[in-house]
Amino acid sequence: MGIVEEDIARVRAATDLVEVAGEHIQTRRVGRRWVGLCPFHAEKTASFSINAEEGLYSCFGCQAKGDAITFLREVEHLEFAEAVERLASRAGIQLRYDDVREGQDRKRRSRLIEAMEAAVEWYHQCLLTSPGAASARGYLRSRGYDGDVVRRFKLGWAPDDWDALSRALKLPTDVLSQAGLGFVNRRGRHQDSFRARVMFPIFDAAGAPVAFGGRILPGAEGPKYKNSQETAIYAKRRTLYALNWAKADVVTASEVIVCEGYTDVIGCFEAGLPRAVATCGTALADEHFRTLKNFTRRIVLAYDADAAGQAAAERFYEWEQRYEVDVTVAPLAPGTDPGDLARSDPVALLAAVKDAKPLLAFRLERVLAAADLRTLEGRARGAQAAMSVVSEHPDELVRDQYLMQVADRCRVDPDRLRAALGAPSRDNRQWQQLVEPRRQSDGGGPELEALRLAVHKRDEVVHRLDEILFADDLHLAAFRALASSATLREAIDSADPGAAELLQRLAVEEAHADPNDVLNLVLHRAGERALHQLEAEVRASDKRGPELSRTVGWLKLTLERLPDPEAASGLVAWLAQWGHHRG
Ligand SMILES: [Zn+2]
Repeated sequence: MGIVEEDIARVRAATDLVEVAGEHIQTRRVGRRWVGLCPFHAEKTASFSINAEEGLYSCFGCQAKGDAITFLREVEHLEFAEAVERLASRAGIQLRYDDVREGQDRKRRSRLIEAMEAAVEWYHQCLLTSPGAASARGYLRSRGYDGDVVRRFKLGWAPDDWDALSRALKLPTDVLSQAGLGFVNRRGRHQDSFRARVMFPIFDAAGAPVAFGGRILPGAEGPKYKNSQETAIYAKRRTLYALNWAKADVVTASEVIVCEGYTDVIGCFEAGLPRAVATCGTALADEHFRTLKNFTRRIVLAYDADAAGQAAAERFYEWEQRYEVDVTVAPLAPGTDPGDLARSDPVALLAAVKDAKPLLAFRLERVLAAADLRTLEGRARGAQAAMSVVSEHPDELVRDQYLMQVADRCRVDPDRLRAALGAPSRDNRQWQQLVEPRRQSDGGGPELEALRLAVHKRDEVVHRLDEILFADDLHLAAFRALASSATLREAIDSADPGAAELLQRLAVEEAHADPNDVLNLVLHRAGERALHQLEAEVRASDKRGPELSRTVGWLKLTLERLPDPEAASGLVAWLAQWGHHRG
């Protein structure tokens, strides 16, 4: 194991689990317990509960349970010993190890961190006081960074010299090179890794310095940014700049802003958004998401619009599914980065973050904005381009919601778009149904999903559905059986054979979709069907024309207002009456 048992017990006793958990989730007191949204599974109602006196937690939703050490291990993906060390350093406890080699590894790690701490401080003092840093100070002032910013982010200056840091810190050669601070050059002399650069120290989530990003001054030669090489304490794909400072606000605001650069992050903090982080000289990767989802499920990309538009959307959708996070995009004008905007128009930056849209909505908006929707040809081309963006999304329900928007904006029949989206498994008969959309069994997808939810989340879903929402006879029969029985078993027994078989199948499938999304989609579909029919009637009749047209107008408006709850309940009521009226 490594760490002496007695010390582990001391760490447990000295740790306040409520405080540790509070760095990842918001908790509130309920009687003797503390409760909050579980960090280990996605949920909307709090099933995570902490017993502060015992230092234990448990979740009714996913059965996660344990103490402060398990919590930290699970939430930050740490080894047992790492978690104990983190908690020990919080509590100011010096750990003893019973395994010599492991003890040495820990010792080496803490030597590297100590070296980094010394370097951060030394570079920082250089920036604040050294005469050679005058141009760096001038540059930072010109970017709007005053002394407070410099101190808050521990900015530094690496002098224009070969070995100033090495000489000043007098570190052993192996520590210097293992920390990535310097190396031995070909003439056998110490040389610093950074020279004539503004230094942005990078800390791990717990606040230990692990690396530097160095920015060159304008006009100087060399790459604009240089980052520390990877070391035993620094892995780029796992590290997020500023997470150590941002995490508290990330939890409070339930949102993290992901930027491209250090100066963007600092801009966000200065503009009043102290929940920004950046990747360090690498693209967002799998492990970044794994880290972020332990703090929040909502991720706002604050990238320049072109960068966001070109982001590899499929990978983001994949991460959304795998880590149950929502990726949104703050709409920044092309060529604007958050760092500049924070200085020139901080209010606009706040507004952009507040207006962040789902990645697919953002991409769709860009495509449609570029299309000429005034002409028939333009709309057709716009619809085609838009559908290629929509088709990238892996979730059929999500695709269908956006498909409806494209249909609306480009004034194309949604069923033709569905056909164009081309599910490869469609046989000829299904194809017929697509080109004759008014026939029954249109929209099997969302209806089936709604039934699946009705089977699995009966109490939450059944009462919100209505017979009128089901166009497919089989689905309707299954819903009737469910709605008129107290249990699933009873529903299966009372249903006719086809519906019973369907219910049985749904019972063993998993229901992942959000009920709100599904119900909204089913309702939208039913409303659309009614709209199609009414429009056909308006075309066919002249006597009832004006009255029908008013209804059509109301229906269109109501469909646009969805998922507004008032519009939704109004529509359900109208559909029920309308369906009844028509027999
Ligand atoms: Zn849970």
